Amino acid sequence: MTKFARFISPLLLIITPWFMSGAIAAQNYVTVDISIEQPQHHYAQVTLSFDALNQKKVILTLPTWRTGRYEILNLSNGIREFSAVDSFGQKLPWQKIDKDSWQINNTQGKNVQISYQVYANQLGKRTRHIDDSHAFLDASAVVMYSEQTRASKHVINLSVPKSWRSVSGLTSGNNDHQFIAKNYDVLVDSPIETGINEYHQFSVDGRDYALVIWGKGNYDSEKMLADLEVLVQQSKHIWQGYPFTRYVFMVHATSGARGATEHLNSTIIQRSRFKFSDRKDYLGFISTAAHEFVHTWNVKQYRPKGLVPYDYQHENYSTLLWLSEGSTSYLQNQLLLRGELMTSKEFLENLAKRITAHLHKPGKESQTIAESSFDKWSEEGGDYDKNHSVNIYSEGFLVSWLLDFSILEKTGLNKSYRDVHNILYQDYSIPKVFEERDLLTILKQVTADDYSTWWQGNVNSALTIDFEKLLAQAGLKMSYGKDDTVKQQAWAGIKTKVVTNGLQITAVEKNSPAWQAGLTIDDVIVAVEGLRMADKELTTRLKNFKPKDRMSVTFFRRDELVTRMISLGEKPKEALNIVPIENASKQQQDFFERWTGIDFPE
Ligand SMILES: [Zn+2]
Repeated sequence: MTKFARFISPLLLIITPWFMSGAIAAQNYVTVDISIEQPQHHYAQVTLSFDALNQKKVILTLPTWRTGRYEILNLSNGIREFSAVDSFGQKLPWQKIDKDSWQINNTQGKNVQISYQVYANQLGKRTRHIDDSHAFLDASAVVMYSEQTRASKHVINLSVPKSWRSVSGLTSGNNDHQFIAKNYDVLVDSPIETGINEYHQFSVDGRDYALVIWGKGNYDSEKMLADLEVLVQQSKHIWQGYPFTRYVFMVHATSGARGATEHLNSTIIQRSRFKFSDRKDYLGFISTAAHEFVHTWNVKQYRPKGLVPYDYQHENYSTLLWLSEGSTSYLQNQLLLRGELMTSKEFLENLAKRITAHLHKPGKESQTIAESSFDKWSEEGGDYDKNHSVNIYSEGFLVSWLLDFSILEKTGLNKSYRDVHNILYQDYSIPKVFEERDLLTILKQVTADDYSTWWQGNVNSALTIDFEKLLAQAGLKMSYGKDDTVKQQAWAGIKTKVVTNGLQITAVEKNSPAWQAGLTIDDVIVAVEGLRMADKELTTRLKNFKPKDRMSVTFFRRDELVTRMISLGEKPKEALNIVPIENASKQQQDFFERWTGIDFPE
């Protein structure tokens, strides 16, 4: 029996206001009652009960961001009808002291009970969403904490419609809708999915796994289960040991939301309900699952300095977020290849796409991957994305790849970047942290070489990658296939989207023909050569031109009609393939096989 259960029946807590249930011993834990009675209106009523530990003032705070999404989200905007009472049911005065914090006065240092309503209608942000079929609750967006309670055990009691099933990575309590968290940090990193859902379980290597799916869609849960079972067995190729005994894959098959988030021993994956079935879509799903599973070690067990412990009220800065995200993207493929969940052909296509995107990103000359990591909190799309930044995921992947090849080469294929991650797990797990200098120490330990110059050149300088040379190490080469012989196509250097009147510019590549002609983001193209722009893409009209031709473009800029001449350029090659070199040497083939864990492609 747990300490908590000796105190008070959880059932009593749900049905009886705690201040009416007689004398209550001082609690060294927080009771969190979440009642979902009008799910169709997206409301939850939350009640927190805890011991004020002799403090006359208690400050309750809701995080302003949630783990796994490095962005200020202002989650307190969903809190309503806040109130506080003492052990006798007497109202306690309170005031807000900042946008996320409520200060309760005159607590007499005894038990207090805080109540508030949460409006939960943020599906795509994976913070809080309640409707008549389910609730997804990330506690960062639902449960407040105080300095007195952050380290305390939390007991969560859900009151939900009868037909709902509740699932979480948290320890289960005494009934189907009760969960226990060791402390607040565990609670906010263990979301709860409750509702009408499909539920499956399996065990591998003494660990229990669950798959819970909310929403209808074209998924085949038997195939998902079989592949997840294979996926989780591949972690042994990177880390020795597991940081969990039970892990939950939560899936939302829905509309209007996509993406995924890693948590302590669970993940939430959102996909369009009809994006599970064909091979490309399915590969997207299983790749995301692999990515989030890698995070269970990389981020949830070891994190760079600046993110330990999490500061829930402010930005948590680090120049190493590329290692947290980009290396996770890199290692996800290592799991997929070794589990034969991705073919070598699919892997090489994925690499080609990544290389192409990087080659067409002018921002790589203006920002380092370390700077990109630090600035993640203020990242924005548009011009910043294309022309002034690199990305912690995509360029973080490339830096991880460079590092892997460097280690494989220096150690005669005996060690790889995977060894670096195992050392991070074994020696730098939280509460420890790691910094740049620790990574240099680990790299020296693995390769017996000093990586200061390498680090300066690739992490703290603009990236310049010789892809031909890199690929050749593994017996591969770049080929543009038919594109090499195709006649030259005209190019302007803009991306557009269809709007009511024409085509709105969403990106202009720095120094491209359109950039030189002065076109910019948000201009709405209405005519080309005096004829109305009725096509969905500019490329359709560009087919009538050749490189070096001049093309007149008429557009609205803040309601004013403007015409400019664009001197068209030549379309850069995009149809990149990565293919094996004919007669690749034994050494190159061995390199490929040590890199990927699979046979060199025929
Ligand atoms: Zn990630």
